[in-house]
Amino acid sequence: MAQKSALVTGASRGIGRGIAIELAHAGYRVAINYAGNAAAAAEALKLVQEAGSDGFIVQGDVSVAADRERLVAETVANFGRIDILVNNAGVAPNVRADLLDAGEESFDRLFNINLKGPFFLSQLASKQMLKQEKDEEGFRGRIVNITSISVYTSSINRGDYCMVKAGLAMMTKLFAERLGNEDINVYEIRPGVIATDMTGGVKEKYDKLIIEDERGITPIRRWGKPEDIGKAVRAIAEDRFPFSTGACFDVDGGFHLHRL
Ligand code: NAP
Repeated sequence: MAQKSALVTGASRGIGRGIAIELAHAGYRVAINYAGNAAAAAEALKLVQEAGSDGFIVQGDVSVAADRERLVAETVANFGRIDILVNNAGVAPNVRADLLDAGEESFDRLFNINLKGPFFLSQLASKQMLKQEKDEEGFRGRIVNITSISVYTSSINRGDYCMVKAGLAMMTKLFAERLGNEDINVYEIRPGVIATDMTGGVKEKYDKLIIEDERGITPIRRWGKPEDIGKAVRAIAEDRFPFSTGACFDVDGGFHLHRL
């Protein structure tokens, strides 16, 4: 079987790195995208190699059109095709501001990186996938979008984040419909609270909410790990859900349950 290939945005650290490593375990070669932290990207590549696969590092800001073009072009130049695109790169607001004070600069930053970037990158990757021959499983490609419990959970000190993640959930449905009859399945993975740099600043708050409080905000009383998300992406990459598209997987320790 030909070795499959992945493009993972924001693969240098956190969840993206966890996804890259799991895909490497599944035999995928990985294009490791990062924005500014070259050392973290180098470490991620080393871990991909230790997991028994290989890849390459590609700097690029997903909010910039020319960078998106380059991400796709370099992945195709290195691997010949893109079997899976994982839209993982994302940022939280620099400052958590009350809904009534939240500024346009933060809104534009989050919109551009977390929604505009994945949308136009998916457009480019889809066009590449449509040119590809079907693989052994009958797919031209797969797309996975990493959203958040913020799709449906309101946090009034980061409304911009919630709104753009909700947009990314809708984007999954749109691409799923458009590509459903083109041998390209599209999925949403909706992480809960995962231990990464992004949540490092609110560690004490979530330690309390998840572990110390009597009942805890999640039935599974632990922080999520990047590999939890990586394993979900791997299941998709290994075609465990061939008759599902536009589907959303909650990988959140049960956070989404309504409880009394
Ligand atoms: P993280 O630890 O802050 O890592 C962010 C990654 O995205 C890094 O690899 C970073 O690259 C990259 N990145 C940032 N801006 C970029 C840009 N403009 N273009 C390309 N890459 C960019 O974040 P994380 O916690 O792993 O989050 C990953 C994704 O999961 C995000 O979409 C986030 O919204 C989502 N998520 C996270 C949680 C959580 O609890 N952590 C929960 C739900 C959803 P550099 O290393 O170069 O900076």
